[in-house]
This record gives sequence, C-alpha cells and structure tokens, in this order.
Amino acid sequence: MMNPQSCTPSEPYRGLIHRYGFRLDIEGKESPITLHEGNTPLIETPRLADRIVPGGRLFVKYEGLNPTGSFKDRGMTTAMTQAVHEGAKAVICASTGNTAASAAAYAARAGITCAVLIPNGNVALGKLAGALAYGAKVIAIDGSFDDGLRIVRELEGVSGLAVVNSVNPARLQGQKTAAWEVCDQLGDFPDWLCLPVGNAGNISAYWMGFQECQAGKCGGLDCQACGRVRAPERGLPRLLGAQAAGAAPLVLGHPVAKPETKATAIRIGNPARGDQALRAIAESNGHLCAVTDEEIFQAYGKVAKAEGVFCEPSSAAGIAGLRQAVKEGKIDPKGKTFVCVLTGHGMKDPDSVLSSGAQIHKAAADMASVLKEIER
Ligand SMILES: *Cc1c(COP(=O)(O)O)cnc(C)c1O
Repeated sequence: MMNPQSCTPSEPYRGLIHRYGFRLDIEGKESPITLHEGNTPLIETPRLADRIVPGGRLFVKYEGLNPTGSFKDRGMTTAMTQAVHEGAKAVICASTGNTAASAAAYAARAGITCAVLIPNGNVALGKLAGALAYGAKVIAIDGSFDDGLRIVRELEGVSGLAVVNSVNPARLQGQKTAAWEVCDQLGDFPDWLCLPVGNAGNISAYWMGFQECQAGKCGGLDCQACGRVRAPERGLPRLLGAQAAGAAPLVLGHPVAKPETKATAIRIGNPARGDQALRAIAESNGHLCAVTDEEIFQAYGKVAKAEGVFCEPSSAAGIAGLRQAVKEGKIDPKGKTFVCVLTGHGMKDPDSVLSSGAQIHKAAADMASVLKEIER
C-alpha cells in the first residue's frame, strides 16, 4: 500500500501517475509531469451497435478527450516523468503528428526542450498547430515516419537527450492504464477490444494492461490500494487490430516501403513493436485486418453522425475493422460486448471533414431563405 489515497474516488483526479502510480514500472513517480491525462469516458453507442454489431453492445473509449487530443498523453506523462528524473534536458521523437503534439506539451510542462521529426506534408493541421503552439522544434523531414524513427533511434544515447517514441518502455507503462480504465468502467473485460494499429505500441500496451488486470496487478478491477476487489467474470478480451490497406505491414508480413493512407496517424510501414503486437493478437485469439480508406472514412463519418462522437480518421479504423469482421462472418456479435478505442480527436484534422463530402449551405440573409435551406 504505497499510496492508499491514490484511488479514493472523492479525491480530485490528478492524472495517471497519481491514480495508478503504485502499479507503474517507471522512475520519478514522486514528481510527475502531468496534464491530468487519462480518465476518459467509455461511451455506449447503441445506434452504431445496431448497424455494425446487431445483438451486441458497443462502447467507444474516447481517447480524443486527453489533454492534447490523443491517447499519446498517457504514455507521455510516464515517459516525460522518467526522462526528467534521469536528467534529460531535451526529448526527441518521430511522429505522424499526435506524439509530436503530446511530447511538445509535456516538455513545455517539464520546462525542457522538445524536437519532433515529422514526415513533410503528411501531418494533420491540428497536430502541427499543437506542436508549434507548445514551442517544439518541429523538423519536417523529406521522408516517412519510418525514416524519422530510424534517425531518432540513431540519436539514442546522446547525453541529456531522451527518445519518447513508444520504443521507450515507459510509454507503454502509461498507455496500459487505458485497459484498466476500460475494465473499471465496464465492470468486466469486454469480449473484444478493437483499435487501429500503426507503430503497434498501443495494442501491445492494452494487452499488457489486460494481462496485469487478470493477474490482479492493476489499479482497476482488483485495486489493492483501496481494497476494492472485483474479479473479472469474462476471460481476457480478444484483440482486433486494424491497419490501413495501404500501410498494412503486419497483415502482409513484410515492411511497406511507401505506406499510403489518408489516415495519417497509422501511415507507418515498419512498426517498431510489430512482433509484440502479433504476439498479443495471437495470444488473445484475436483478429488482424486491413481496412480501406473508404471503410475508414465511412466509420469516421458514422460515429460522428450517429452518436455525436468526433474522432480523427485513423481512430475509426478499429470500428471499420470490426464492421468488416462481422460482415465477413469472422465475429458473431450476438450477446457480445465490444469496445472500440477512438485514439484521437476529430478536431485534430479539420481538413478530413471538409474533404469528405461535407457541405455548407448558402442562403441570403433573410428568414425565408434560411427556412428554405433548412427544409431542403
Ligand atoms: C499513434 C496513433 C495511432 C497508432 O497507435 P500505435 O501505438 O502507433 O499503433 C492510432 N491513432 C491515432 C490517432 C494515433 O495518434
């Protein structure tokens, strides 16, 4: 019982390390660098369930509500806390956008320098704006995310510089807490957890989190710090990982030299944690699939219009993958509970809304013209 107050429900929420620190394997927990990330809602989406998992229940874990708009903040609080503890004066990462925005914010919070490598021209506007606003040195390279990550890994070991990509184990320590929250909010394991797979850190972290939850080593269902013990009734969830068809190295079984997809957060051809992700999917008796940009954008539009939940295109890949698997008869949804992780907020990527057929009506500035447009 290192920190018995840490999960008293009446205590104001102060971020993941405060909430779950006693279960996180990182250094520097006594001085967390935090923006009060985590504690995101799990929202039931019955209208979407009717369409894609008839007879089942569907929830979305709305990770876009983290402080910088994506789940990356979960891993960044732990990575930044440990980096500062170890004396880092600067952090660096390669990013498709969200890691950059998150690293930039947490570096600002820690008062240290942040450099981010992004693929030139393939980062959503809201992510770029975030990284710049938080004062990071944004370096657009003439190459892909994978090129950026290769360069960053070559810089590993430079004194005072910490790499905060998900190759850094401290990242997964933070990210696994999302699995604990899902268990806690649902009161049990889901039958299936569905999510997009890019560099494959997140799916690996969820699997670690679920396994620890089952072993009674988490701050969720079996919280020994506050004595609240509820054993999960269902077995471990099965993992559904979805890659974009143009960037599907794990589905194809080999790296993709020129990954292409409009879902830029998962535009990755050589995932750093690919083997770990494949193991997690196999161990969970899960499912790995590739979804087209068309399927991704359909799911992206649907979850916003049918449920009022706005995520970025990449985030919808998990929903698209689930829909595909049910349609192909690979998953029988009846009586099952599904959780789809919506990894990032839709407002990160305004261009995707405007370019996916959304239309602005025009009217003269008088009541009759406006009414005519409404009825049209
Ligand atoms: C980073 C990211 C992903 C992919 O996560 P990995 O851990 O790289 O597999 C998916 N969606 C969004 C919005 C992201 O920012």
